[in-house]
Amino acid sequence: MQTRWVPGRAGLLLLMLLPLLGADRSGPARNAILFVGDGMGVAVVTAARIHAHGPAGRLAMELPHVALVRTFSRDRMVPDSASTATAMLTGQKVHSGTLGMSPETRRSCSVEKRPDGSPNPHHPCSDGAEPIPSLAEMARSAGMAVGVVSTTRITHATPAALYAHSDDRDREEEIAAQLVERSDLSFVVGGGRRFFLPRFPGRNGGFTGSRSDGRNLLLELEERGYTVATEGDSLQRAVEEGAPRVVGLLADDHLPFELERRQAGEKALPSLAELTELAIRHLKRDPGGGGYLLLVEGGRIDHALHSNAARVGLEETLALDAAVDRARKLVSEKDTLLLVTADHGQPIVIAGYALVEDPILGLARRVEGVERVDEDGDGKPDWAQGLDGKGMTVLQFGNGPGYGDAAAAQPWKAEREDPIELGDGVLDPRYRQESAIPLRYTTHEGTDVFAAATGPGSEAVQGFLDNTELFGILRRALGL
Ligand SMILES: [Zn+2]
Repeated sequence: MQTRWVPGRAGLLLLMLLPLLGADRSGPARNAILFVGDGMGVAVVTAARIHAHGPAGRLAMELPHVALVRTFSRDRMVPDSASTATAMLTGQKVHSGTLGMSPETRRSCSVEKRPDGSPNPHHPCSDGAEPIPSLAEMARSAGMAVGVVSTTRITHATPAALYAHSDDRDREEEIAAQLVERSDLSFVVGGGRRFFLPRFPGRNGGFTGSRSDGRNLLLELEERGYTVATEGDSLQRAVEEGAPRVVGLLADDHLPFELERRQAGEKALPSLAELTELAIRHLKRDPGGGGYLLLVEGGRIDHALHSNAARVGLEETLALDAAVDRARKLVSEKDTLLLVTADHGQPIVIAGYALVEDPILGLARRVEGVERVDEDGDGKPDWAQGLDGKGMTVLQFGNGPGYGDAAAAQPWKAEREDPIELGDGVLDPRYRQESAIPLRYTTHEGTDVFAAATGPGSEAVQGFLDNTELFGILRRALGL
């Protein structure tokens, strides 16, 4: 079975030419920071704003130059994160599930058989299946420092699109090896440590490894001059002591959700804002002096909303917003382009007729015609009811596991539960908002997302854009 990508002639030539192409930068921006909220559709941003600051409040990510952005992939109207991150970081519309490969590349084309043993219809890869250069590789060739911070496994789709080339995003062992062998990043922080350690028990200092090839990539990183941190304190120390290249792998799998992180008290890992600050402090100091490119991903907005857990998703969104706020305080808008966007949305809607002072996570209010109904005379309209006499929350999902009675053995066969009976229970982080169609995991959504920017080159973020155009905007701003 062939699982490794072998570069063709055109790909090799392109990679060899890159240093020459990017030798002289003349863009208006010295640095760029790209913030990606995974699954952070417009409704998610509106809901997070209301949750934290009320309907008239402002988020830090509400930057002055704004565009709507199409997100479809080469083969899917509703895309996945590998294809969308590749679009933003290479400028190419590629097949869903592929990372940093040419548009001709079909997912898993290098694998002969599917996991169930049946023949893979996309095998072998077509002639045009080639790796394509990412913005990060262009930046490195031009002498810039490149960093990445994510709350997911660092081998997960969005961060991996910065440095990896694979016809399947799920080959995370291989993606981890690419990070070590050829990414040349100078600051890397996220989860996913298990893909850097061998599967054998007792050899990994108490950590859970899952590599099948027995390699210890943490040792290999150290051999290549990286300072490797596996906890927040040692990461902070590495940055303070001016370690030239830093990798922080702070969890075996994804980093904890923001709500879980805060519950850990003194032992809590740094927040996404704190990690972003460490990244900026490190990258600013790069001895090459060529400016920097940083990708910051709020990667678990998506994970929470895949479970219809709206409150958890909103807290993740606000953690990313805090990271944007921190960056705005640390960099100069004279020399640094800040661009905030999402890779795709999640099927969440803000519906019903809540009062402006109501919690966004609460119940919708009752309205008949234009009048709000207050039968019990408490001065506030009563809760809205569906035709089945049961209430509804303001936030609802198109599909997902929130269908029916969540406590039932087969929720999709049970009657839907009445959120009015749950009372304040609907505000609990464990509450799943209701969905119209029962699915184990919510699907993504294909509505346009927003992009917002400030700093040099940001005026190009306007009108209706394709996600591939964000690559051009970043590339031109940096003069790559
Ligand atoms: Zn997702």
